[in-house]
Amino acid sequence: MSFAATILTLYPEMFPGPLGLSLSGDALARGLWSLTARSIRDHGLGRHRAVDDTPAGGGPGMVIRCDVLGAAIDAAVPAHDPRPKLLMSPRGKPLTQSYVRELAAGPGVVIVCGRFEGVDERVIEARGLEEVSIGDYVLSGGEMAAMIVIDSCVRLLPGVMGKEASGTEESFETNRLEYPHYTRPREWEGRAIPDVLLSGNHAAIERWRREESERITRERRPDLLER
Ligand code: SAH
Repeated sequence: MSFAATILTLYPEMFPGPLGLSLSGDALARGLWSLTARSIRDHGLGRHRAVDDTPAGGGPGMVIRCDVLGAAIDAAVPAHDPRPKLLMSPRGKPLTQSYVRELAAGPGVVIVCGRFEGVDERVIEARGLEEVSIGDYVLSGGEMAAMIVIDSCVRLLPGVMGKEASGTEESFETNRLEYPHYTRPREWEGRAIPDVLLSGNHAAIERWRREESERITRERRPDLLER
């Protein structure tokens, strides 16, 4: 069975968007994963299909209604669907490579995309939504965050990346940032490719890469070395 992604959003026309191109797009066309985008507004109330209302207790902005979102989730996802139900949210558990690996190993994801101030807390509890954050900044909606979750999962699915190894040496897989890459030409604007990489000495190349990887991690993300 392939990885199945179901998105609940006010903007289903945003999908597949960038996920329809390049690595994820090819994999989508090859049936290695599937994508369904459902409109929350289909379950909106009244003639205007209202999905949001003012926050209880006052304050700025609008909140997505629990009854509307609950109905949208129930219509899109069967009761015993084994997939985790995620809510994109700046309050959520941080998305990390190990979390991505966990998700990619499973049957897929259901992702709810928030808008406005967010969603009524009761639907998070009642439908068991797991809040996930892509970083400590605020977006205007969950759609791009959902694309990031899916993109990071899809590239790990079996058969998606050309070389099996190319997923294991990368940044974060070993709590190290990646070493620098070079390709032709051998010299460009007075800058040469480091000699060791052209030496054919695989042990020396490996050592150089490991050292560079540690140096860059120490300089840029010392917090990773402590994990
Ligand atoms: N009032 C909220 C922000 C709402 S932003 C707060 O202060 O926490 C609107 C929507 O964008 C959110 O419901 C969420 O779905 C999405 N979003 C914003 N920032 C995000 C982030 N860092 N990670 C994941 N989703 C995010």
